[in-house]
This record gives sequence, structure tokens and C-alpha cells, in this order.
Amino acid sequence: MSTISMLIAGEHCAAHNGGTFERRNPLDGQVATTAPAATPEDARAAVQAAADAFASWSQLGPGARRQMLVRAADALASRKEAFTAAMATETGASALWAEFNVDLAAGMLREAAALTSQIGGEVIPSDVPGNLAMGVRVPAGVVVGMAPWNAPVILGVRAIATPLACGNTVVLKGSELCPATHGLIIESLQEGGLPKGVVNFITNAPQDAAQVVEALVAHPATRRVNFTGSTRVGRIIGGLCARYLKPVMLELGGKAPLVVLDDADLETAVNATAFGAFANSGQICMSTERIIVDEKIADVFIERLVNKAKGLPLGDPRKGPVVLGSLVDMSAVHRCNEMIDDAVSKGATLLCGGKADNTLMPATLLDHVTPAMRIYGEETFGPVKAIVRVAGEEAAVTCANDTAYGLSSAVISADVARALRVAARIQSGICHINGPTVHDEPQMPFGGVKDSGYGRFGGKAGVEAFTELRWLSVQTTPRAYPF
Ligand code: NAD
Repeated sequence: MSTISMLIAGEHCAAHNGGTFERRNPLDGQVATTAPAATPEDARAAVQAAADAFASWSQLGPGARRQMLVRAADALASRKEAFTAAMATETGASALWAEFNVDLAAGMLREAAALTSQIGGEVIPSDVPGNLAMGVRVPAGVVVGMAPWNAPVILGVRAIATPLACGNTVVLKGSELCPATHGLIIESLQEGGLPKGVVNFITNAPQDAAQVVEALVAHPATRRVNFTGSTRVGRIIGGLCARYLKPVMLELGGKAPLVVLDDADLETAVNATAFGAFANSGQICMSTERIIVDEKIADVFIERLVNKAKGLPLGDPRKGPVVLGSLVDMSAVHRCNEMIDDAVSKGATLLCGGKADNTLMPATLLDHVTPAMRIYGEETFGPVKAIVRVAGEEAAVTCANDTAYGLSSAVISADVARALRVAARIQSGICHINGPTVHDEPQMPFGGVKDSGYGRFGGKAGVEAFTELRWLSVQTTPRAYPF
């Protein structure tokens, strides 16, 4: 069990009223972490600390910021074991997933470090003679980032790395479900040498989330907000940010379709599907949630997929290597169980896996899923996956778009030109041809459409999101005025 603190203005601290909350392990119910339960006052103090640190951090040259971010990346990578232990304890995640998280998150910090010298601008031709006009990207100010538990290292780092590279100061609001894991990110940044107040960290009890988030958003120094989490909470935060006129990036839920066309290479299709569907037990925003397969090849594809799914190791990640670890809590198990019952009662066939009575849930496939079933439209966020059989390409595209969400998607076909035509018609922020729906790289524009939210993290898109574009001009010759 660990007890963690917050970080405000470079000082480790408790909540000012001494409040704490506990996160328990999903498998044995033991207390995993005790963390400060921030109040709105603590939230305001964190934003104020970031505001106070902004003047000097934003003026620092790119080389100095780059050096600290690279050092932070090394510090984060060196904590792989600690992250793996914290993730297994707090969320029941497998070592495989924890290691993937740390590697990608370190890459994100290195990419952010490289971006420090790429925050440019342009000279824009002016109609006024002798006028030199420029569009200049400048740091926005304090950025508030809120990250979830499911890919905790990646999403915690993503919420603050590019903002820092752009010269902003930040407040990270850790997840109630993995405060110690998020705390390790902060430790790494401190080891990187970031000055006091540049990175601040707060944790809150679940019942205080609404007031703490409002305090963070409402503070006048907060200039950008980013939130990764569910569409339900994303709508609340989007509304809040509209009220306070704060630009926000919302990275929300998904119901990613993977389309297997009739000419697909079956091995490619099976491997991409299994990885996209069952990595981290399906608890990824990009998880393959609907497997849409042409009926011409459905039987043979599904037989091979079921064989692969049945062989995926499941167990307590603290006891040895597994592919499927624990789900985050029993409410996830109940949600998945209900969707299995609902689908089977309406005519779906359970091919493998099935309901669970604890958080170790097996890889589960349901065939003959129809729009009448909950699992067709609702995010399972677990290892329970719908297979929809369709007649031809047109029906596959219609089905892929028959969802409120639009984050990731994939098309599997031996004919790449055909797959590109299909990909062009799928309404999603991301589409991979002959690859899994689960794929993220630091330099790529990452984000969704429709109910999956708006805004893009990654590379140049991230620089646009976390800077202000200003118009500066210099009159270099005497200017003619009308009066
Ligand atoms: P969640 O939306 O339940 O997240 C909880 C977060 O919302 C916490 O930070 C909590 O403090 C805050 N919150 C709760 N109630 C609030 C309120 N009334 N006002 C303001 N804030 C409030 O999501 P989760 O369960 O942590 O994460 C899972 C979801 O995140 C899934 O839907 C998944 O698809 C999505 N996700 C999206 C991405 C992406 O990049 N698009 C990545 C990972 C996860």
C-alpha cells in the first residue's frame, strides 16, 4: 500500500483540510493507495502556482525546456517496474500493458522535447506598404489536464507533455482510480528538473470531482483544458468550459469498428482483431468494439478468431505474465454481464468466454449481433466483443457508421485501393488499413469526431491546440493615414 501526496508550487502536500480517499485493488479489495482529497481551494492553489511559474517558464529557450523533458523521459522509463507494480495494484492491469504504457509515454515526452524548437509562425503579406506582419505561436498560459485510469501513463503524460513543450505551465488532475500511478509521472517530471510550479498535481475523492473540476476550469489563469474520459463526463466538462469560455479538448469514448472485407488476408484479420479487441481487456478508447465481417468469409474468420481468443492467458497480473488482467472494478463486470445476457436473450450466439463473477473476465465473443442489442451501440469497455455479419462492402460501411462514436476504426482487405475507398467513408478521427484499431504514436494527430469528442493531441496538432496564435506587425516605413 502507498500513501501519496499532491504537488503544488514544488511542495509535496496534503489536502489543506487533511482529507484523504482510498483506492482499493479490484481483485482482493485491499487498500492500494491513500491519496489527498483535494478541495476546490486546493485546486485554485494549484492553478495559482502554475500561473506564478508561467512568466519564467514561458520565457525559457527551447533548448532548456527540451533538456528537461528529455531527462523526464529517461526518469519515467527508469521507473518501469514501479509503474508496473502501481498499475497492477491500483487497476489490475497486466505487465504487458504497463510496459507498453511506459514506453509510449516516454516517447511522448521525447516527442514533446523535440517540439520545443518547432513552435514557429509565419510572415503574412500585408496590404499596408512597409508593414511586416506575422502570425506568431505563443504559450497559452495555464493548462489543466484530466486523465483517466485505463492507459494511465500514456494519457497522464499526454495531458501535459505538449503543453509544457509549448511553454505553458500545467495542473494534472489524477484519476481517482490510479492516483499513485499518476503520481509517478509527476515524480519523473520533477527528476527532469522542471522548476517549481511548472507542473502541479492534485488528486480528489470521487464525490468531490464536480466541485474540484469547476474550480480548476473557472480560475481566471486557466487558459486551456483537456479531458480524456467518458462521453458522459465529457459533456459536463464541455458545458462547464463553454460557460467559462475556456477552450477545451475532449477525448471521449469509442465504439471502434473493424471491417473485414471479403478479400481480407485471414491471418492479418485475426491478429489485428484479437489485439485490438483484447489488449488491456478491451479497456482502451480505441478498442475494437464491433467486428464487422463480410458473410462470405465470416465462418472461417470467426473460427480462427475464436481459437485465438480462447488461448489468451487470463489471471492476476501480480502472479505472472498474462494478456488479460483484471477489469478495473465490479461495475465493469456487471455492465459486461448485462450486455451478454441482453445479446443472448435477443438471439446472439456466445462463442467463447462469457459472464464473470469476479474482475477476471475472459475474452468473450458474441456472434450474430444486431442493432436491437445493447452491445451493438454501447461501449462495453471490457473484453466482450460484438460480431456483426454483413452482406458486402456497402453494408459494412453503413454498419461502421451506425454509431454515435467516431474515434478509431480499421479496414482489413488485400486490395489497398479498395480499403482506402472504404476508409474514406468511415466517420472517425482515425482509421488503420490492415492494422488494429488500437494504435497510437506520439507524433500522430489523435482524436475523434461525433460523440468521441473534439481536438487533436500529438505532433503539430498538439502545438496548435496548446498555443495562442497572435498577429504581430511592425510598420517599417512612414504610414499614410486618411486624417
Ligand atoms: P470517466 O468519464 O468516468 O472519468 C472520470 C473523470 O471525470 C474523473 O477525472 C472524474 O474526476 C471526472 N468527473 C466525474 N464526474 C464529474 C463531474 N460531475 N464533473 C466533472 N468531472 C467529473 O471515465 P473513466 O471511466 O475514467 O474512463 C473511461 C472512459 O474514457 C471510456 O469511455 C473511454 O473510452 C474513455 N477514454 C477515451 C480516450 C480517448 O483518447 N478518446 C482514452 C482513454 C479513455
